Amino acid sequence: MKYLDEFRDPVAARVLVDQIKRRATRTWTIMEVCGGQTHSIIRNGIDQLLGDAVEFIHGPGCPVCVTPLEMIDRALEIASRDNVIFCSFGDMLRVPGSKQDLFSVRARGGDVRIVYSPLDATQIAADNPDKDVVFFGVGFETTAPANAMSVVHAKRLGLENFYLLVSHVLVPPAMTAILSSPTNRVQGFLGAGHVCTVMGTSEYGPLVEKFGVPIVVSGFEPLDLLEGVRQLVDLLEDGKVELRNAYPRAVSDAGNVVAQQTLDDVFVVTDRPWRGIGMIPKSGWTLSPRYAEFDAEKKFGVGHMQVQESAECHSGEVLQGLMKPNECPAFGTSCTPRSPLGATMVSSEGACAAYYQFRRLGVTDLSAANA
Ligand code: SF4
Repeated sequence: MKYLDEFRDPVAARVLVDQIKRRATRTWTIMEVCGGQTHSIIRNGIDQLLGDAVEFIHGPGCPVCVTPLEMIDRALEIASRDNVIFCSFGDMLRVPGSKQDLFSVRARGGDVRIVYSPLDATQIAADNPDKDVVFFGVGFETTAPANAMSVVHAKRLGLENFYLLVSHVLVPPAMTAILSSPTNRVQGFLGAGHVCTVMGTSEYGPLVEKFGVPIVVSGFEPLDLLEGVRQLVDLLEDGKVELRNAYPRAVSDAGNVVAQQTLDDVFVVTDRPWRGIGMIPKSGWTLSPRYAEFDAEKKFGVGHMQVQESAECHSGEVLQGLMKPNECPAFGTSCTPRSPLGATMVSSEGACAAYYQFRRLGVTDLSAANA
């Protein structure tokens, strides 16, 4: 398939692996920010192929994983109410709240629906004027433009029964928090290509300058990741601190300006708690006053809900790169995808799920992984 198979070529991958291993004079500690990149690295055994040249630590870029527990409980509270149709992407339904998940709410008769676009939820609102329809707006800069459009669309249609439960977070403040931590081990970042497709690369230059850490924006297929690592290892070996774009077929410096204008119109930056990490200043979006009437937290009065994380789950350490998933005592025993203790074991982008799905089975070969 064009744009996929050509970036999964095992022969070309081997050439890049050899180049990286020849160039590396030591083990470089690299964080891939995005959970999609984590899955591709583990699925294709890229970390194992690179041996001692690179240690990957897996960043907090899985939106489902960093959605705070209290936000899941707020969603569960709203979804349990009569007269509500609660809409979400499918990956949120099995994420455990403090006592249950959205599947349990649906099993007990709640009207919880999986949709494939937030605009499906606005259509459901238009078709059901006697119901309150809520869309669970979770994610990074990648999913935010479509969620913002749903609110713009609802306003244009004059819908008075559509609400957005907003839990949007931003990548650069999370990278700042990691680099500012006294426990930080990151020497170079693979930037998340899809985030930069929307936002461009301008937010990353100041991080490179402030922290003296190179960043290479990378894609998601094996060759994209290996090319990103190759450029990053070159920079690290040469002692250069630069921002580079190794994903030019999707990322431009300016990004998607129309999407950015919509985001500026609909959202304002706010402090956000990250599941397993804690509060990060100015690390998320909430609805701007212009669209306050669509705010589900205000409509349903759930903004005050707070809960404690399970002490058994170490996803905070996993999300900060301080622990590998298989080092968690609960990994594969009391925590599995069927009975997850934390969101990182549920999400299709979660590091614990990636290790459970691929590393347990010992998949290390590119062609086998993609068969
Ligand atoms: S294996 Fe389970 S309990 Fe351990 S960090 Fe991952 S999600 Fe949490």
